[in-house]
Amino acid sequence: MFHALVAVKQVPDTTNIRIDPETGNLIRQGVPTILNPYDAHALAAAVEWKQKLGGKITVISMGPPSTVTTIRECIEMGADRGIVITARQFAGADTLATSYVLATLMQYVHEQDPVSVVLFGKQAIDGDTAQVGPGVSIRMGLPLVTYAVKIHEINLEENYMVAERKTEAYNEIIRTPLPAGLTCEKEIAKIPYASLPNLVYSLKYEPEIWTHETPVMFPLDQIGLKGSPTWVFKTTQPELRKGGEVLKVAEMGVGPAVKSVLEKIKSSGVLNAVAGGAA
Ligand SMILES: Cc1cc2nc3c(=O)[nH]c(=O)nc-3n(C[C@H](O)[C@H](O)[C@H](O)COP(=O)(O)OP(=O)(O)OC[C@H]3O[C@@H](n4cnc5c(N)ncnc54)[C@H](O)[C@@H]3O)c2cc1C
Repeated sequence: MFHALVAVKQVPDTTNIRIDPETGNLIRQGVPTILNPYDAHALAAAVEWKQKLGGKITVISMGPPSTVTTIRECIEMGADRGIVITARQFAGADTLATSYVLATLMQYVHEQDPVSVVLFGKQAIDGDTAQVGPGVSIRMGLPLVTYAVKIHEINLEENYMVAERKTEAYNEIIRTPLPAGLTCEKEIAKIPYASLPNLVYSLKYEPEIWTHETPVMFPLDQIGLKGSPTWVFKTTQPELRKGGEVLKVAEMGVGPAVKSVLEKIKSSGVLNAVAGGAA
């Protein structure tokens, strides 16, 4: 049976991000959260393949208790089961500790209910590291297709998948045995409208809450801040570029405008620097 496991992260809505000028940290209070956009597209790909093959979708997320809202959103989109991993012991996790916890619990799900594909977003729009998909896949021993833009085929009888990934220069089409991991670009699938049956199911659905003790007992020195060798000491915002000078060609005329630009370039010393560098 087709079983897709999708890793989803609740992230701050980046259009509303503010940085505390004193501490340099993100201000999370009062900031609306959303389902990480890449994860929404990864889930949409799982929904498309569930429609073709039947089967089911499980979504899993590590985060604060409010993550339940994100899981409900995933159920509305077509997931059947949702798991929230939440406990204060997991707080402050870097990508190493996050990947360790997710891989351990995904392996647990896989042993209970075998998984065909494990889908991730390409990256989370807050942490932006793109390390969690590869980190989880390597721990679970899964072949991994990164930057996936299309799943061409999932063949459960012959146990393989054909997926397309993009690189800077060209696209690659890869055949891989199942179960396999994929980190997904937005092109992988369009986000579906929530159907009425899914909406009704999500209203009644209670996401499963797992902690650092259930269903697996985690060693406390390998999770959260204690299990994280990298720390974010400070975040800063790049300075906004100042608006440039506008020359109105219609008023000045083309000749004087070009002359003015050339004079500005000469007086800025840029050309001397280039000539000096070339010499
Ligand atoms: C500004 C900022 C900078 C950071 N820099 C670093 C850093 O340099 N090094 C570092 O180790 N950590 C860093 N972190 C911490 C980082 O956010 C966490 O480790 C996070 O849990 C996972 O990393 P990510 O957000 O980069 O995820 P990515 O690796 O970008 O996420 C890829 C995919 O993995 C899945 N995924 C990621 N997190 C979860 C989750 N909690 N639950 C379920 N699925 C998930 C999603 O499918 C997601 O699309 C930073 C955090 C912030 C806010």
